[in-house]
Amino acid sequence: MTDYYEILGVPRDATPDQIKKAYRKLAREHHPDVSGAEAGSEDTFKDVSRAYDVLGNPEKRRAYDMGGDPSAPGGGMGGGFGFQDIFETFFGAATGAAQQRGPIPRARRGQDALVRLDLDLSEVTFGVHREVPVDTAVVCPTCSGTCCRPGTSPRTCEVCGGRGSVQRVARSFLGQVMTTQPCAVCHGFGSVIPEPCTECSGEGRVRSRRTLSVDVPAGVDTGTRIKLTGQGEVGPAGGPAGDVYLEVRERKNDTFVRRGDDLHATLEVPMTAAALGTVLTLDTLDGPREVDLRPGTQPSQIVTLKNLGVGHLHVGGRGDLHVHVDVQVPTAMDDEQVELLRKLAALRGEERPESRFAGSSTGVFAKLRDKLAGR
Ligand SMILES: [Zn+2]
Ligand SMILES: [Zn+2]
Repeated sequence: MTDYYEILGVPRDATPDQIKKAYRKLAREHHPDVSGAEAGSEDTFKDVSRAYDVLGNPEKRRAYDMGGDPSAPGGGMGGGFGFQDIFETFFGAATGAAQQRGPIPRARRGQDALVRLDLDLSEVTFGVHREVPVDTAVVCPTCSGTCCRPGTSPRTCEVCGGRGSVQRVARSFLGQVMTTQPCAVCHGFGSVIPEPCTECSGEGRVRSRRTLSVDVPAGVDTGTRIKLTGQGEVGPAGGPAGDVYLEVRERKNDTFVRRGDDLHATLEVPMTAAALGTVLTLDTLDGPREVDLRPGTQPSQIVTLKNLGVGHLHVGGRGDLHVHVDVQVPTAMDDEQVELLRKLAALRGEERPESRFAGSSTGVFAKLRDKLAGR
């Protein structure tokens, strides 16, 4: 059986007054003519009314408490307290509330704006100061947001008397229903503007291009949003400004790949230099840095340069730069070079190297597998 107490949101031992209050509140929220909008409101309203029809009547409530459902078909809506009465009770309250709402203010908050900010890797690494142009709306300089031609002022709407709404009596299957609607003449504002400002066409704001000055912190990433409070467009009739959100998009870098706040780069090293060892100079984001490659440097070996990565957002400190060694094996060689290499191979006993697999836990495949697994 339907739980009428639950529908009204009251305890089983609620007083008649509590029940009446709960009903009025819910009826006001869900009455289709008043709330006017939400799908499903009508059904909720019917349930609420049915619950009150029973619980609001001492006789029916007693019968219901004893296990009967007096509102079920045949149980009768006829006796005692009917729908009609409920409506009149409820409606006095609803129109009162509508009158208290009054006219809606002409000034409204401006909308937020989302602006994309393209940044280079060095800019997100160290942070950057940027001037960002935005198309926005500012208060109309001619009318200062009043929407009226200078020297004129808004006039109280004669149709609604400044209330912004008009009441209408309509007949419905449940009896007389009084509805409150926004005034069509003043659009609910309660006032009309007899002579609109010509510069802004009575909007109180005009389009404009402004430049925002932004300090972008180090460590932002693609998708990071920077909020500039109150820097958005001014609302209609000089209403408060919305906010601007700058959404960062990091440009691809030709040399460095970013993973979190660490940077990765590939360093091409000739085979001979990898074998003999060398000192190379790298162009890092912080300028030239020397990298010391030990004799016998292997392919895919990683040299880590501490604190040359991207700055950590807000907390300070920086990530690292990981240099991946890529040993270059010569392809085009002249006769003399080939001869030298053959001599080297002979000296090392490598003219006919044994073919053998590396162990499954060593070798390049194992390293690749570990890297993919993030080990
Ligand atoms: Zn204006
Ligand atoms: Zn009006």
